[in-house]
Amino acid sequence: MNTHYHSDHVGGNFHLQKNYGVTIAAHKWEADLINSCDHEACSAEWLDQPVEPYRVDKKLSNNDEINIGSRTLKVIHTGTHALAYFFV
Ligand SMILES: [Zn+2]
Repeated sequence: MNTHYHSDHVGGNFHLQKNYGVTIAAHKWEADLINSCDHEACSAEWLDQPVEPYRVDKKLSNNDEINIGSRTLKVIHTGTHALAYFFV
């Protein structure tokens, strides 16, 4: 579950998805940018931290709940750094 697409938060996505089949989740607005390889979301050139390509598998929205086994997380859309996750 990514909070937002900045390169310092998604740097491991490519490796985890390719080698372990991990499901990548992000806010639905950012998912569309990433999955369409939008330059702003995918290049990260302005941080000089290239991001290897990955796909968002699960699009999240405000108030979604994610069961992680014995606990449930609630998705909160915060606007700036798009998502936060809280135990409910
Ligand atoms: Zn950031």
